[in-house]
Amino acid sequence: MQNTATPTHCPYCALQCGMNLTPVEGGTVEVSERADFPVNRGALCGKGRTAPAVLSSGVRLTSPLVRSGEGVLVPASWEEALGRIAANLSGTRAEHGADALGVFGGGGLTNEKAYALGKFARVVLGTSQIDYNGRFCMSSAAAAGTKAFGLDRGLPFPLEDIPRTGCVILVGSNPAETMPPSLRYFTELRENGGTLIVVDPRRTRTAEQADLHLAPRPGTDLALALGMLHLVVAEGRVDAEYVEERTSGWEDARAAAMAHWPEYVERITGVSVPELREAVRLFCAPDAAMVLTARGPEQQAKGTDTVGAWINLCLATGRAGRPLSGYGCLTGQGNGQGGREHGQKADQLPGYRKLTDPAARRHVARVWGVDPDSLPGPGRSAYELLDALGTDIRSLLVMGSNPVVSAPRAAHVEGRLRSLDFLAVCDVVLSETAALADVVLPVTQWAEETGTTTSLEGRVLLRRRAITPPDGIRSDLEVLHELAGRLGVDKGFPTEPEEVFEELRRASAGGPADYSGIDYRRLAEENGVFWPCPAPGETDRGGADRHPGTPRLFLDRFATDDGRARFAPVSHRPSAEEPDEAYPVLLTTGRVVAQYQSGAQTRRVGELNAAAPGPFVELHPRLAARLGAAEGDPVAVVSRRGRAVAPARITTAIRPDTVFMPFHWPGEGRANTLTNPALDPTSRMPEFKVCAVRVEPVAP
Ligand code: SF4
Repeated sequence: MQNTATPTHCPYCALQCGMNLTPVEGGTVEVSERADFPVNRGALCGKGRTAPAVLSSGVRLTSPLVRSGEGVLVPASWEEALGRIAANLSGTRAEHGADALGVFGGGGLTNEKAYALGKFARVVLGTSQIDYNGRFCMSSAAAAGTKAFGLDRGLPFPLEDIPRTGCVILVGSNPAETMPPSLRYFTELRENGGTLIVVDPRRTRTAEQADLHLAPRPGTDLALALGMLHLVVAEGRVDAEYVEERTSGWEDARAAAMAHWPEYVERITGVSVPELREAVRLFCAPDAAMVLTARGPEQQAKGTDTVGAWINLCLATGRAGRPLSGYGCLTGQGNGQGGREHGQKADQLPGYRKLTDPAARRHVARVWGVDPDSLPGPGRSAYELLDALGTDIRSLLVMGSNPVVSAPRAAHVEGRLRSLDFLAVCDVVLSETAALADVVLPVTQWAEETGTTTSLEGRVLLRRRAITPPDGIRSDLEVLHELAGRLGVDKGFPTEPEEVFEELRRASAGGPADYSGIDYRRLAEENGVFWPCPAPGETDRGGADRHPGTPRLFLDRFATDDGRARFAPVSHRPSAEEPDEAYPVLLTTGRVVAQYQSGAQTRRVGELNAAAPGPFVELHPRLAARLGAAEGDPVAVVSRRGRAVAPARITTAIRPDTVFMPFHWPGEGRANTLTNPALDPTSRMPEFKVCAVRVEPVAP
């Protein structure tokens, strides 16, 4: 056994904390501090610290499973399992056409896997029907950022800039629970004299540390941003020179904001006019300031416009594309950034290229050695794809996702998955989605494989293999290689991650997310490289002329055709579901610190389960009194889509008109049974963050 520590990164969230891994008995590793990685400087949250628990064989799959004639999953050989998948995929294609095949990827897949999966769907299967769970994560921020700046990179500046700015508005973001080591950036901001404003319907652990907490009604933060912009104009705080020189579209955006009087905004949001004025004062007082959004404003059926409104606020005050200022999105999933750049998204090719762009199709087709005309066009977005299962889409391959728990209107999605002719899932544990499959393939995990991820900063990182996987496990890249071969494509699907990355580099060259100047050696030597990082030439990538990478974007110009940022002329509109007599309360959902996403991994870690054993319904004492519910009593939350039951957690930290549920659990407490799949017209993001419900007492 090799006993030296391997420097690598956490398998979970987009902070991608650095850690060292040392192999220990039992096929697992010990985590130790990796102080040389600047983002977390050795700090880890409980999830990262306990991540090795999922490596141990007791909680994971070690053999392929196939559904028997009796309808149960039984162990099978790789030969049989892969053969069944290939036979079913080719049979479906022959009978129903290539678009009857669906592929559903994940924001936790490495860049290499995301790239290979997109290529597999389009080149081997020939289907347009591929999307991934990252659509449910930051797609509205990506759409708004692309509209405004011509380019989407979660944070256009490194986290190290946060403590040195003057004010940060965190909108719908709770890093104290979602990525605890990042909280130090906000603590240092305040220690340096800066101010923190938190916009959240709940007084979260993050909001408790803020100088100002604004608690708008869920689904109204678009109006809140417009109200602040109205005051910026009314109080003469617009940076007219910046607006003139670096933006376009101001007059329309200004007119829209001026229609949102502070008193009107107060009525919509519940945030008082004095609070609005204070927020504007704090934001405009320093020379530099930032707005950072997360899922709160983004997971709405108007998420793109909501993020656009916050970007407008940055642009009107000259706070984008300047040092220590700007708009950024705190991406959630481990490779949420890289996962959206390399071709597993329904409408994109590697390098963050548009699938509809003829030049992009020609470039990528050349790298793939195929005819550009053979590449399918854009397919359905994630929820639309899941909704089409069993009808237009007959067979599905899932890699790194658990939509039974994480998709909106989850009971319906579960029903669609059950109605498929054939379902294959690659995962490390028997997730709720894998349990429905006809074939389950056990695959390697983070510590057992090498690959790259791209953090929320746009920093490309090298995850390194620290231990060999148990017998019987294969990597996702090996699975795609084997399936491609069985489906008649013998070349183009290498199993070595570095070989895939070398092809990804070429495919991304010249695209918005250009990785062509990055290689594994640089990633190891430099502790990560920020994209875009174009290759200066193919002759000497290691020479003095190599591109340094781009930690800070837009300082000279934005990535639009004319170099100007574009205002979005957006106005408030109600959520897809507003409370009424039958459903008088609002539901919002989110995360708790000890669990991650659908919980497929973290629910299997004893320490994390002890800390957060199950779902709960957070409700205000006034609502609890109306129901006659005491702390811990089971309560039912009912929406137009279903019913979820969980113990009451009574707190004044939530608005009286709103209840909150975390979404990590399946079963009767599954929060996503309730959520609304109404889609944003641009990003196709479902409205996870707000729907109308009623709350009922349940006899214990
Ligand atoms: Fe892992 Fe995120 Fe926790 Fe860091 S904050 S240890 S990346 S889960």
